[in-house]
Amino acid sequence: MKIYDVAVIGGGSAGVMSAIRTVLNNDECLFFPGSPLHKKRSRAFWVTGVENMPAHLSFKKGIDEPNKISLEWLTNGPFASKFHWKKNLGVEKISQDSNGVFTLTDQKNQSYQARFVILATGVMDVQPVIGDSIEPIFDYANVQLADYCLRCDGHHVFGKKTAVIGHQSSAAWVAIMLHERYQPPSMAIFTNGETPQFDQDTLNLIEKYKIDIHQEKIQGIQGIAKEKVLKAFVCAAELIEVEIVFIALGMIVYNNLAKMLGASLDQRGFVIGDTKGKTSIDGLYVAGDLKANTKKQIYTAWDTAVDSADEINQLIRRKKRMNS
Ligand SMILES: Cc1cc2nc3c(=O)[nH]c(=O)nc-3n(C[C@H](O)[C@H](O)[C@H](O)COP(=O)(O)OP(=O)(O)OC[C@H]3O[C@@H](n4cnc5c(N)ncnc54)[C@H](O)[C@@H]3O)c2cc1C
Repeated sequence: MKIYDVAVIGGGSAGVMSAIRTVLNNDECLFFPGSPLHKKRSRAFWVTGVENMPAHLSFKKGIDEPNKISLEWLTNGPFASKFHWKKNLGVEKISQDSNGVFTLTDQKNQSYQARFVILATGVMDVQPVIGDSIEPIFDYANVQLADYCLRCDGHHVFGKKTAVIGHQSSAAWVAIMLHERYQPPSMAIFTNGETPQFDQDTLNLIEKYKIDIHQEKIQGIQGIAKEKVLKAFVCAAELIEVEIVFIALGMIVYNNLAKMLGASLDQRGFVIGDTKGKTSIDGLYVAGDLKANTKKQIYTAWDTAVDSADEINQLIRRKKRMNS
């Protein structure tokens, strides 16, 4: 079976940048962007307007649209022979033999081999259950009235009655930071039926900033998402005015392929990589949101991808140099 230089798993910001850098380094790249289901469960899919990065304002889907342009260029450009795009395919299984070669199996049960793997399968934000379903929040997420990322979208709360959904300290800190940065007209935390787990220092700030804590389950949302209007949350038969909400319930980490190989994970399940993305498994690199201790941002996804692809290229060049 043919052995590719590098297999890139994931087609979000980190996966596409890994593919670009690998191909431009003139290494042969096998690229799995994932099945439609993988894509729908990825953060890239849900990103609409990107305002915190130069030159992105014109894209309606700030990750998918520019990625598509680059992938088409790779397919038709001068390095096309180095780029093997397995459209709509995800990797279901992965193993490594005693020579360090990886075998990857896609969901059609076809197998491939590669000497190096860059894993960029990302994470997903946990969604709040409202009524009995996670569906109600999606319409508002699509129009950025429900946001997930403080660094990307925190500025949206400016001048708006704001709420945060979450019960851990991290949720309280989202509320505190948003208050300190933008002083929205009101700030509430909805723990949605959970007991708040805020320490005393956090509680002191919550009191100081007059942040209301609502512990009852959220029963419904009032607003007209398609007109970009959020009005209120229904909570214990009371209407609480909310114009924008941040979800701070943690993340689901897509680490199953890393687990299959026995790669080291941190306590939250993120894959541990060194400064170049090298994991505890020889030849396995991690990039993007899946990597432990990174800012979960597009530009960090790009940077970690470049680090991994360049380090792999250095190893490939060194081996060729020794054999020449
Ligand atoms: C609503 C929202 C708005 C955001 N806005 C911004 C913003 O404005 N600016 C900013 O910098 N950041 C923003 N972010 C963060 C940004 O989306 C992430 O940092 C970025 O998407 C991380 O890229 P990634 O490639 O690591 O993961 P993802 O984008 O999540 O991509 C993961 C990829 O892995 C694939 N995949 C998963 N499993 C498999 C498998 N088994 N086989 C093959 N492929 C697989 C998926 O199909 C997907 O292509 C936002 C996030 C959210 C949720």
